[in-house]
Amino acid sequence: MSAAREQELAERLAAVRARIDAACTDAGRGAHEVTLVAVTKFFGAADVRALAALGVTDVGENRHQEAEEKAAECVDLGLRWHFVGGLQSNKAGAVARWADVVESVDRTKLVGRLDAGAADRDRPLDCLVQVSLDAPGSSGARAGCPPDELPRLAEAVAGSEHLRLRGLMAVAPTGEDPAAAFDRLASLHAGLRADHPDATWLSAGMSNDLEQAVAVGATHVRVGRAVLGERPSSQ
Ligand SMILES: *Cc1c(COP(=O)(O)O)cnc(C)c1O
Repeated sequence: MSAAREQELAERLAAVRARIDAACTDAGRGAHEVTLVAVTKFFGAADVRALAALGVTDVGENRHQEAEEKAAECVDLGLRWHFVGGLQSNKAGAVARWADVVESVDRTKLVGRLDAGAADRDRPLDCLVQVSLDAPGSSGARAGCPPDELPRLAEAVAGSEHLRLRGLMAVAPTGEDPAAAFDRLASLHAGLRADHPDATWLSAGMSNDLEQAVAVGATHVRVGRAVLGERPSSQ
């Protein structure tokens, strides 16, 4: 790790923390209510280590193999590893062995696989249901279950022996004001909590829209580029 890279990460992280603090102030919330998940996909274990030294506690990854290796290299750091990517059914069991939080549970088929993979853990696997905020029938839909399937999927997670339903995750659709999309997310979250009072986590907001997410009550923001710089190829 070069001193220059260390310096860059420290400055970027400080700027992101300042944005989160300002957004919390604007929303009348305490800064401690929002957890920064640094999305380290495409960046190596040395960067993860440097971020941990700067006080980062949570990191996010979106590809199983890359993340599994990094998590093993960084096992001494005591970080919380979030899986935030599209999850293939045949990888779900393996992800459940290294991840601390799976944020992208978007279909019931994954639930049994995750539950089986989590059976060897010493504590339940924290899960968020990922909901789609796309207009119904819109093209280029992102991952996430349709809102009308959310209650059934949440029920499946909550009813699994080795899984713990912690809340909801979403990505703002492109081509729409994120504030409007996050308003819909906040009401979906309120509905979820009516059935599952412990599902208090709301993971929303990325480099470009973390302020709008904090404004509607996000408890976790997932920030990649603003902390780490541009990725080699955007994903
Ligand atoms: C990559 C990624 C992020 C981080 O996005 P940035 O725009 O780099 O902040 C957040 N959430 C998910 C699901 C991602 O895949």
